[in-house]
Amino acid sequence: MPDASVTTPLIEQYEGVKARYPGHLVLFRVGDFYETFGDDARLLSRELDVVLTARGADARGERTPMAGVPHHAVETYLGRLVRKGFKVAVCDQVEDARFAKGLVRREVTRVVTPGTVVEDRILGGPDHSFLASVVDTERGEGGFAVVDITTGEWFHGAADGPGPEGLVSSLAPFAPREILWAETGPGSPRARLEGVLRREFPAARLEPSPPPMSEGELPARFPRGPSVGSIAGEADLRLAAYLRVTQPRILPYLELVDRGRHGRRLVLDPRTLRHLEINRPMNPDDPKGTTLLDVLDETVTAPGRRTLAFWLVHPLADVGAISERQDAVEALRARGAALEELRVLLHEISDLARISTRIAGRRVRPPELGILRDSLAACARLVSVLSEGASSSRLAALASEIAPPDSLLARLRTSLPETLPATDDAGDLFRPGHAPDVDRWRAVERDALTALAGLERKEQGASGIRALKIGYNQVFGYYFEVTKPHLARVPPHFRRRQTVAQAERFTSDELEELEQRIREAREEARRAEGTRWEEFLAEVEREIPAVYRLSRSVGELDALASFAHLAQRRALVRPTVDDSTALVVRDGRHPILERSLGDAFVPNDTELDAAGERLLVLTGPNMSGKSTYMRQVGLIVVLAQAGAFVPAKFARIGLVTKLFTRMGFTDEIGRGKSSFMVEMTEVAEILRAGDERSLVLLDEVGRGTSTFDGLAIAWATLRHLHDRTRARSILATHYHQLTELIDGLPGALNAHFAVKEEGDGIVFLHRLVPGSTDRSYGVHVARLAGLPPDVLEEAERLLRSLETKGVALPSPRRSRSGGPRYTQAVLLAEERAAPDPLAEELRALDVDRLAPEAAADKLRELKARSGRRDREGDSAP
Ligand code: ADP
Ligand code: MG
Repeated sequence: MPDASVTTPLIEQYEGVKARYPGHLVLFRVGDFYETFGDDARLLSRELDVVLTARGADARGERTPMAGVPHHAVETYLGRLVRKGFKVAVCDQVEDARFAKGLVRREVTRVVTPGTVVEDRILGGPDHSFLASVVDTERGEGGFAVVDITTGEWFHGAADGPGPEGLVSSLAPFAPREILWAETGPGSPRARLEGVLRREFPAARLEPSPPPMSEGELPARFPRGPSVGSIAGEADLRLAAYLRVTQPRILPYLELVDRGRHGRRLVLDPRTLRHLEINRPMNPDDPKGTTLLDVLDETVTAPGRRTLAFWLVHPLADVGAISERQDAVEALRARGAALEELRVLLHEISDLARISTRIAGRRVRPPELGILRDSLAACARLVSVLSEGASSSRLAALASEIAPPDSLLARLRTSLPETLPATDDAGDLFRPGHAPDVDRWRAVERDALTALAGLERKEQGASGIRALKIGYNQVFGYYFEVTKPHLARVPPHFRRRQTVAQAERFTSDELEELEQRIREAREEARRAEGTRWEEFLAEVEREIPAVYRLSRSVGELDALASFAHLAQRRALVRPTVDDSTALVVRDGRHPILERSLGDAFVPNDTELDAAGERLLVLTGPNMSGKSTYMRQVGLIVVLAQAGAFVPAKFARIGLVTKLFTRMGFTDEIGRGKSSFMVEMTEVAEILRAGDERSLVLLDEVGRGTSTFDGLAIAWATLRHLHDRTRARSILATHYHQLTELIDGLPGALNAHFAVKEEGDGIVFLHRLVPGSTDRSYGVHVARLAGLPPDVLEEAERLLRSLETKGVALPSPRRSRSGGPRYTQAVLLAEERAAPDPLAEELRALDVDRLAPEAAADKLRELKARSGRRDREGDSAP
């Protein structure tokens, strides 16, 4: 810090703020600019490309570098700084410069970081903007708290599982923009949490968490939940401490939202969220990248959009809660054309939550109060529309939740004029009669203006100068103007003030006195109106918690209406979601792909049950539809458990509590891990965390390795999934040997996608058919890809020769004719060593206790099942 004796008082004040906010870029309000000095000025100039100047001179004659941005454009610059990862402290003038004695008092009014942005222009849309706080303890139990300060929504809870991974899983659906992290306890492996967070949330800003606020310090605006004292409570208190620093003047209103209100949720780990492209395309650079949210979003309000996005990443895992939503969707759909009337009304409702936040933060523009009033009025009309026609328990509840607080609506209606001025210092903020002192001063002003007109007529008459006029300018105030030809007749009580080209300007005692009255009346009216406006905002502010709740209910209704609208327009069906372990879909479609393909999309069935045939192994050439099918099943489950109707003719889904997908490992390989290592890590996680209520989707199992160990590991994995985890699972693989092996598993079945050969080429039918296939059509696919004819010819010749000579090709089918091969021999030997389920069952059979018919039945069944090993295809769906 420069020596205070040689700096100006202003710089001194600035350095004082800098010292209290180390590591922050301080934007220091001076007049119409936000300035920075010294190194910050150089940095600002470089990062934002603004002019670097200098100010003053110290005792040695050195000038302080200075760079600033105009105050009216500060949001744009703040946005750029925050996106570049800076923490910016905004220091404002907190007293009126005109009344300040000496240096104007300045204070940091807020700190802007990615998770604490409230400016619409920086947020760039209605989507949630989450700030998270995570705490990982020594014992490996984590807790988290997440807040959107722009909507006042606060969530917290214990981590989904132990360690950083459990925290990541809890946090992933929120996609926080900023994460405060803390590891507590001496034994915690430092920096591990940070490393995992950095890997899983590359777009988020990470910040070591401040020490927790003590409970006693918690301001009234903070939610106090039963979890105080718990690990989630600690995350809350750390988040509160951070908000106290970043929002020192006005803390946001916050309301704890119980995301468990509807019971448990379907856990989607971060990779599953990515792979299923629920709210973000897998490849963010792909301009065509379409997400589930994109195709599903028919909401018409900002809170509706947020609710829908939230539901899709937090599907439910509670039969009652899901059917409650489905009932509402069903009822709304049944309203037919009246649904559109309801959506038109919804459309009139603005982002009430964000307006409320700006009221609480005193950053609201007057017209937004008008918008609040009109939106609440629309809510009132919505309630009456909602109360008519088909309903459900949830819709009935929503109708009462959306009813606007009467007192607030009445207050807004009686106080505010129809249209409000753009700024709060231009007058006319209230209807006449609402603010008596404002009205009184306005009357004084009007009287004085009338007197002014009278004075003009009086002086015209007395002097006989018809052209004498009263005028006004900023510098001299009111004046009489007399043009040159009439100057001789100017009365003696006029005093000269200014000479202009064709005239002279004068004042008089009477004019000055009137001017004084007018100025005073305007000043007083403005002051009275300012005071009244502050009081008015404070009155409105008291209703903010109610408006937040109302806004959330509007969001819920809009999201339900969006589901219903889609259900009306598209061939969707209400899925049965129950406590079984079945997963049955008839004529299922991929919700995203069917949008672009239309009728060309080929529907397919699914039939799995954790209690029976639970493991489906897909084979078939590239491009035949394996990955699409797996995603389709995953997306249908997500939709069903979010409460939506699904693209199928029929669907029955036994509740899924965890959904795992492993597809296209590209995102990790770039980060220096071998694909095999990545695949194994991910599969290990599934085998560890998966259970009977899980759905597992594994694409290209064993892809990342050489044939032998890849196949062996894939096989062992499959067995584990089948025998132990017992999750409903779909896998795709290029290892045809696997299909042979799984024929021995009672709960496994093979299927592939049909392909038609046509002359030289092939046609993908995208139809799922029972049984496996060993044809990879590699050469055909290569032809489709445009490989040169001579290469294709050579490849085909080689293929034929290999096939006839029975050389070791990775296919058990061919090996049957060509003699056993090493790979398969080893694996089948292993398989024999493993307990044979049929043999086990035979051994366990108590023949003496079976009736003759039953024994015969059992024998037939066992024979049929053993026969399946030789034939192919009769075990598919
Ligand atoms: P695979 O995983 O077997 O290589 P994909 O699932 O990636 O195949 O599908 C390849 C392409 O085939 C998709 O991009 C899509 O255009 C088309 N396709 C897949 N499934 C279907 C279907 N059921 N109906 C119509 N086209 C489909
Ligand atoms: Mg694929």
